[in-house]
Amino acid sequence: MQKSVEELPGDTEGVVYRIPVYRFAGSSADAPSAYIQAALHAGELPGVVAIHALMPKLRQAEAEGRILGDITVVPAANPVGRAQYLFGDLEGRFHLGTRTNFNRDFPLLDRPEKSALPPATPAATVDVRLKRLLVELSVGHDIVLDLHCDDEGVPYFYVPAELWPAMQDCAVAMGVEAVVLWKGSSGAAFEEAAIHPWLQLPPEEADLERRVITTVEFRGQRDVDSAYAESDAQGIYRLLATRGVIADKEAAAPKNFDGVVAPIENVEMISMPRAGAILFHVEPGQRIANGAPLATIVHSPGEPDGAIEIQAPQAGYILTRSMHRSGRAGDDIIKLVGEARSTKPKDGALED
Ligand SMILES: [Zn+2]
Repeated sequence: MQKSVEELPGDTEGVVYRIPVYRFAGSSADAPSAYIQAALHAGELPGVVAIHALMPKLRQAEAEGRILGDITVVPAANPVGRAQYLFGDLEGRFHLGTRTNFNRDFPLLDRPEKSALPPATPAATVDVRLKRLLVELSVGHDIVLDLHCDDEGVPYFYVPAELWPAMQDCAVAMGVEAVVLWKGSSGAAFEEAAIHPWLQLPPEEADLERRVITTVEFRGQRDVDSAYAESDAQGIYRLLATRGVIADKEAAAPKNFDGVVAPIENVEMISMPRAGAILFHVEPGQRIANGAPLATIVHSPGEPDGAIEIQAPQAGYILTRSMHRSGRAGDDIIKLVGEARSTKPKDGALED
């Protein structure tokens, strides 16, 4: 294994961010290569601790000569966001300097090669330069895993529709419960930046069956513990074994995924009709009927008609819910995977 440290100058004098990168060299030129990063949204740490639990398994595989494909690991991809504490709270999703989501506006290359990158410019703000760097580190890998988490949720994948159902084995390997398929644009999220160059190639060159590209949502922000870290590390290891990056036939996952799979147009973003306190009636992982009570919003405490019940607009599956127990009018508080297309499908990414 080789460790290097990428240095990213900040936007002001005297500030430099450091991003450790770990590389394992594969022994087989034919084996797929893999890139794994965590905490692009800097407050989402389940993936970081999963990588920490994964590294000893990779080192052991290396010592035993079982690493077939090149593996690049970036355990903490966003030191810029990680440093953004504001009055005691971490803001790891949006860059404070530009108000831009750290997982949007990545450069979309016209071929999966470093030479297709836009020129590096010191005049760009640090979030722009970070995105260029992460694409530079990841471009060309056959397998790209971007480890995130939701507010509160089941483990699930976002997957480009072009890679499904070929990626079923990966969903089984990682033990996710649901897969949301998207197509077209996602606001140039990292995942879109990973798939876009391959989609510009003729199908025989793109060889999409070989590609694994997913945003992995490892449950919720507070689901950072030793047991999940270990089981998630095993899931990533199993995926690498299943796809032949690591030689370990016993760890390979079966092909058929029997969890929830739905296009992103089926996701109902349930929002607050009024500001107030949230009393949830459902939990992630629950299946619910059309019209089922999802939450009660207490908007005028003490009044006889001071609360509103939100009901399910269609039957489906509760994917996530807000980690907060209060909200503003219009805030999204539940993602419900409907059995049918939503009457208000989101264009592109589900969230800002
Ligand atoms: Zn995220």
